[in-house]
Amino acid sequence: MEQNKRTSIEKLGEFGLISHLTQSVVTHQPTTVKGIGDDAAVIKNKEDNTVISTDMLVEGIHFDLAYHPLKHLGYKAVIVNLSDIYAMNAIPTQITVSIAISNRFSVEALEELYDGIRAACDAHQVDLIGGDTTSSLKGLIISITALGQGPSERLTYRNTAKPGDLLCVTGDLGGAYMGLQLLEREKQIFLENPDIKPDLEDQTYLVQRILKPEARKDIVNHFHQHEFMPTSMIDISDGLASEIFHLCDQSKTGAIVEEVNIPIAKETETMAFNFRIDPLVAALNGGEDYELLFTVKKEDHSFVMKMVDASIIGEIVEPEQGIHLHSKNGKIHKLQAQGWKHF
Ligand code: ADP
Ligand code: MG
Repeated sequence: MEQNKRTSIEKLGEFGLISHLTQSVVTHQPTTVKGIGDDAAVIKNKEDNTVISTDMLVEGIHFDLAYHPLKHLGYKAVIVNLSDIYAMNAIPTQITVSIAISNRFSVEALEELYDGIRAACDAHQVDLIGGDTTSSLKGLIISITALGQGPSERLTYRNTAKPGDLLCVTGDLGGAYMGLQLLEREKQIFLENPDIKPDLEDQTYLVQRILKPEARKDIVNHFHQHEFMPTSMIDISDGLASEIFHLCDQSKTGAIVEEVNIPIAKETETMAFNFRIDPLVAALNGGEDYELLFTVKKEDHSFVMKMVDASIIGEIVEPEQGIHLHSKNGKIHKLQAQGWKHF
């Protein structure tokens, strides 16, 4: 390394930083089927594969305890990890939970956190099998590792989409982002005037999207019940645009997305208009929706059409064609991926 050289993290961004730090990582074990680069890693056992994913949540970066109840936070911390296991078309089985805590937290507060963790484990039939507890000078850090199982022929990766495949998404998008905007606004109002009660009554849907998201176990179960295999899959943690870029980048393809087909809930649309935000921007770049983005062969069109909570939003194309959005007014735009900027 050159002496005195100092590159800011900001210059690389989150994904640039990860690939920079891991570019020379090689695998030594034949049992490592998939290392860095997908929603989860895959380890070959005698029969099934073990699928592993880990995520860290940091106070002040990923959550704000001013409006994130600890119980919901515990629930969400588990869910974001399970979502990565489901994105591999695998079934989560165990988690480990590591926390760094300052003396600001009481035992009762941490009990609440664990109530949420337990509720998510119960809902997804996952076992909490270990972890680590340490102190921090300031703030709460939660790191969870999730393990899952799946036979080789059933696992879905990010790098296996093919031109001609249909691009599909579950649920609706942008809700978590608008929920966050709402909570941020109410927090500011509260800080300026603590006598005003937050006005969140009618916003259960959006608030739930950000504070208590769900991982799409139902979708993966549906695939398994029908012995159906998407050609590729990724979960939407950073926003639709960013995940389409990951999928296309790894599959070496382009994509065309139809704006009219991007699912956006009425509640999201209304709140976006209130905030003078384009609902499309919330859906494309908002993030934290934890829906699944997947591709299927063209002949499986009717299978997706029959699914209760999935939409076909576009098509995978040749790499030379790039990644574009076909807008409602008929124009073609280059898709921009922003994702979350933590740095
Ligand atoms: P996701 O959004 O699905 O959680 P990430 O964007 O966090 O995925 O990570 C992409 C890939 O890079 C994953 O395979 C992940 O395990 C790997 N990765 C992320 N951070 C690191 C790190 N600090 N060292 C090694 N691998 C990492
Ligand atoms: Mg993921």
